[in-house]
Amino acid sequence: MKISCKEYELELKHPFSISKFTRTSTPLLLLKINYDGFTGFGEASMVPYMGENYASAHAFLAKVDWSRFIHPFDFSEIHQYLDSLENGNPAIKAAIDIALNDLNGKILNQPCYQIFGSYPDKMPVTSYTVGIDTPEVIREKLKDAANFKVIKVKLGRDNDKELINTIRSVTNLPLYVDANQGWTDRKQAIEMCYWLHDQGVLLIEQPMDKNNLDGNAWLTQRSPIPIIADEAVQRIADLDCLKGAYHGINIKLMKSAGMYEAHQMILKARSFGMKILIGCMSETSIATLAGVALAPLCDWADLDGPWLTKNNPFDDPEMKDGKYVLSDLPGLGLTGGEGLFG
Ligand code: MG
Repeated sequence: MKISCKEYELELKHPFSISKFTRTSTPLLLLKINYDGFTGFGEASMVPYMGENYASAHAFLAKVDWSRFIHPFDFSEIHQYLDSLENGNPAIKAAIDIALNDLNGKILNQPCYQIFGSYPDKMPVTSYTVGIDTPEVIREKLKDAANFKVIKVKLGRDNDKELINTIRSVTNLPLYVDANQGWTDRKQAIEMCYWLHDQGVLLIEQPMDKNNLDGNAWLTQRSPIPIIADEAVQRIADLDCLKGAYHGINIKLMKSAGMYEAHQMILKARSFGMKILIGCMSETSIATLAGVALAPLCDWADLDGPWLTKNNPFDDPEMKDGKYVLSDLPGLGLTGGEGLFG
C-alpha cells in the first residue's frame, strides 16, 4: 500500500458566516492510496471548530500501520484499529475510510453506492446553503443556486425573520434552516418554528445549544417542523442519548469518521424511528461523492460543498433537477484532478 497526501486550501466563493464565526477557506488533506494496481482517493476537511489541522492529520497518518489493510477490507476491524490509535481525529479517519472505500469499489469493479445498497431512484434533492449576509449579497448568492430545488439558510442571530423575508422576496423554493445552536429562549424558539413552518421551511438544524438536551427535546415535542441534531451528534455512540430528543440527525462523513460508520449510523437512526439528513463540510468532489453514494438511504441531502468553493480540483459531480446523478464508474466515480499529487 503506497500512501500520498497533499495539503490543499479549499477557497470559499463567499466568506462563510454562521452564528459563531466567519471564514474564507478550509484546509484539506487529500489522500491517495495505491494498492495492487488500483488507486483510491480520500479527503479530510478540517473545519477549524472541529479541532483538526495539517499537523494533527500528518501525525495520525504516521501512526497507521498500512500493512494491516489487506483486501477484502474488514471495515469494522479497520475502524476499531483506527480508533485504538487515538481518539477524535474524525476527519483524517474519514479520509482513510473514503480512500479505502473508493479502492474497494475499484477492486470489486462496483460503484460504492451499489456496495452500500443505495437505490438511485431514491436520491433526495440536495440543498444549496446561503450564509448570513446583506439582502443584496443574498440576492447575488441565490443567482448561483439556479440548479437547486431547496435552499438552506443559516439563522441564529437576531435578524432571523428579516433574513427569511429577504430570501422569500427572491425565491419560493422550500427551505432548510440551520440555527447552529443560536436560539436560547424556548418560547421564542417555538414561536419561530411555527412562523418558519408558515414560510415553507422543511426542517430545522440544531436550534439550541448541543448540550441543552432538554431544550431541544422540548422543541421536538412541539415543533410542526422536524428538529435535526447536528452539533449534538458526531459518532455513532452519540446517538443513544438523542433518541426522542430530536426528530432526526445530520450525518456528516467528517464527523462520523467516514462512510462505514455513517452507514451504521443510518441503520441505527432508522431503528430509532429517526429521520436522516446527510450533510457535508467544505469539501471537494471526493468527500461529496462519498456522501452522494449514501444519500439515497437518507431523507434529505445537504451536499453542496463543491458548489460553494472556487477551486475544487476535480470534476464537479453530475447534478440534474436538483439531485445528484450516481456514477456507474467503480468506486466513488471521481474524475479529473490529474497531476494533483505530482
Ligand atoms: Mg448544521
